[in-house]
Amino acid sequence: MPRYENVLVTGASRGLGAALAAELLARGHRVVTTARHEGDLARQNHLLREQHGDRINFIVADLSDSVAAQHLVSHVEQRFGALDALINNAGTGTYKPLTEWSAGEVTTCMNVNLLAPMLLTQAVLPGMMARRRGYIVNVASDLARRPLANMSAYVASKFGLLGFSGSVLREAKSHGIKVTAVLPGIIDTAFNGAVQGSKEETWALRPQALASQIAALFELPENVLLDELTIHPQHQDF
Ligand code: NAP
Repeated sequence: MPRYENVLVTGASRGLGAALAAELLARGHRVVTTARHEGDLARQNHLLREQHGDRINFIVADLSDSVAAQHLVSHVEQRFGALDALINNAGTGTYKPLTEWSAGEVTTCMNVNLLAPMLLTQAVLPGMMARRRGYIVNVASDLARRPLANMSAYVASKFGLLGFSGSVLREAKSHGIKVTAVLPGIIDTAFNGAVQGSKEETWALRPQALASQIAALFELPENVLLDELTIHPQHQDF
């Protein structure tokens, strides 16, 4: 049985999150997926159940709603058992000048990309601390270190997530809990209106390949801590 058996993956109806769910199931974990759209989650859950049975479950939540984010962990744990790991993967953002973002778009971006991971982490930590076992993965971006025009709110959210991740690691590690920030470059997903599968693989990471590197974190020796994982496709200019 994997050390971090029961894993909650946010933003897992498509893209990297969906690849993470499939990869974790293949490695023997139990997985709860979440996203906003029930239809996408249900379809994906049905496909994965054919292969992995009831080790996969889902719950719908809009993480732009901070009250929903605050209660998600307790809802998941009541229905599907205590969580050993949380992967904060859900993310959103559009590429345009700040003056063209509405206040609502800025708020949603900050809520989904930064506030929700903070609230989910806050909710999951007490149980993990009591059990002295837990793993939190925060999917940030290489833009967590690199300013980029036309993505300022998104970049701000990812800078924040990286700062949060390292700080909470320093609070939690003496309780037997690991925290890793993942800083990927371009991923070949439908993020920001792109078409998944449309990019050449030396220019964009395949979600499956990245998911495999992330899932491998859970298999590191107990005494080894990888606080950051920066990962790029071979030819990305960064
Ligand atoms: P994606 O294909 O657009 O998937 C995003 C996921 O997040 C979907 O499952 C989406 O489902 C969910 N989501 C979006 N808004 C949500 C909300 N309000 N509440 C709950 N779930 C929500 O994106 P991806 O490329 O797989 O991105 C995964 C992570 O990698 C994100 O954190 C992203 O910032 C990061 N990243 C992406 C790239 C890239 O080039 N693609 C590069 C670096 C980092 P619903 O729409 O149904 O809610």
